[in-house]
Amino acid sequence: MTTLTERTAFFIDGRWAPPSSDAVIPVISPFTEQQIGQVPAAATADVDAAVSAARSALRRPDWAGLDRPERAALLHRFADELEKRGEERATTVTAENGMPIELARFAEGAAPVQLLRYYADLVASTPQEERRAAQPLGGTTVVRREPVGVVAAIAPWNFPAVLSMFKIAPALAAGCTVVVKPSPETSLDSYVLAEAALAAGLPAGVLNVVNGGADIGRHLVAHPGVDKVAFTGSTAAGRDIGRTCGELVRPVTLELGGKSAAIVLDDADVEQTVAGLAGASLLNTGQTCYMSTRILVPAARRSTWVDAITAMVEGLPIGDPMDPGTAVGPLASERHRDRVLAMLERGAAEGATTTTGGGRAPGHDRGFFVAPTVVTGVDNDSYLAREEVFGPVLTVLTYDDADDAVRLANDSAYGLGGTVWTADEERGIDVARRVESGSFGVNYFGLDWGSPFGGVKASGVGRELGPEGLAAYEQLKSIFLPA
Ligand code: NAD
Repeated sequence: MTTLTERTAFFIDGRWAPPSSDAVIPVISPFTEQQIGQVPAAATADVDAAVSAARSALRRPDWAGLDRPERAALLHRFADELEKRGEERATTVTAENGMPIELARFAEGAAPVQLLRYYADLVASTPQEERRAAQPLGGTTVVRREPVGVVAAIAPWNFPAVLSMFKIAPALAAGCTVVVKPSPETSLDSYVLAEAALAAGLPAGVLNVVNGGADIGRHLVAHPGVDKVAFTGSTAAGRDIGRTCGELVRPVTLELGGKSAAIVLDDADVEQTVAGLAGASLLNTGQTCYMSTRILVPAARRSTWVDAITAMVEGLPIGDPMDPGTAVGPLASERHRDRVLAMLERGAAEGATTTTGGGRAPGHDRGFFVAPTVVTGVDNDSYLAREEVFGPVLTVLTYDDADDAVRLANDSAYGLGGTVWTADEERGIDVARRVESGSFGVNYFGLDWGSPFGGVKASGVGRELGPEGLAAYEQLKSIFLPA
């Protein structure tokens, strides 16, 4: 029998606040299809309470009065408390969204802790004010960094813990206060975050969590008490949020979808490349924004590459996401599974063929599984080469020469990630320089906490991670002093 994790309050103003309505959000296991949890669904009054708590905390001496080293020490305590709960957070995420557990232990258990420590150290070592010689009149200008204010952080379900921490860690390091709204599908794991915040002694109202769907997200984005919005999710929702923030002249960071290319150069080693592609194109069952899901291979060796990619995909262990041997789990929800299946059907109707997969995973009738799929027989203008599937679906395309490969990689509405595979690293870097994308990997793809991450074109606006990710939560003020 499944045990139900039932949460009955929100985390607002440093305490467990009862909800203002009876509405609830069920959390469904994508592996067993059983309900595993339930959380209260926020009404607008709950969002208002969370924003109001965040606003009061922003100016209160127990938060605003901390200098940078004191704030950094508090963030380290928060990281320590989160670390103690790393396994709980990882297993909660796997239960909620079907993420393979070994990935969840790193991405959802350990990575949020690392991010908090990274930003704590960064802010402690960056002065709040610097003095510059003023031009052309002489004198001095004090350039001061101040927190941007109350941050609305809206996260998707695919990496709920780490993607919310992409926002929380730099925001807190900058001295902001935060209202987090997780996705309804993954509403449980933020309670572990809130428990760690409480145990660490984060001042009341500095971090608040409310649950809800798009409507509650819209209310939060447009709230008069919010100063900045940080969003990760679909391009469609990002456009909506961007419109609202444009109207309000409210700073916004948008990390959106992608359809990144893997450019396999003619000198690439077949075995090493397909092994690398397993991580670079199918991580988290393909539900990762920067996946290289358009695989561009040299036309002259098409069949070698299609065979090798198909064999790699067929070899991935599929099954229970709690089993450490599992590489491919179920998709996160029934709705998302049905969306991916509908996309495969549309692709097939338009002439796409598959060398493996193409529908539900045989032998996995329970759980929202889709068979890892390799699509061929289409060109770069086709539906499955242009649209983000956000599942275990790779589209293999061919190119004539390296220039043609770069042209095809750039012929996309998106520009988030991408990879190049080659025996010659310099050649790889040269290709990387020519691709229109916010990030790119040579024979590998892995985010770096110390370097900016984000998209160009329809993949988003702004950057997270690195010092640039901290700057997104700071306002700059220039104070002019006479000569
Ligand atoms: P989604 O856009 O449907 O939802 C994301 C979050 O936004 C959820 O919390 C949702 O409740 C909320 N939301 C939805 N519409 C909203 C609106 N109009 N106003 C305010 N809030 C709203 O996305 P999803 O299906 O949860 O996640 C998958 C998408 O996220 C994919 O397109 C993927 O590429 C993208 N993603 C991008 C990155 C990145 O860093 N660029 C990372 C992970 C996922």
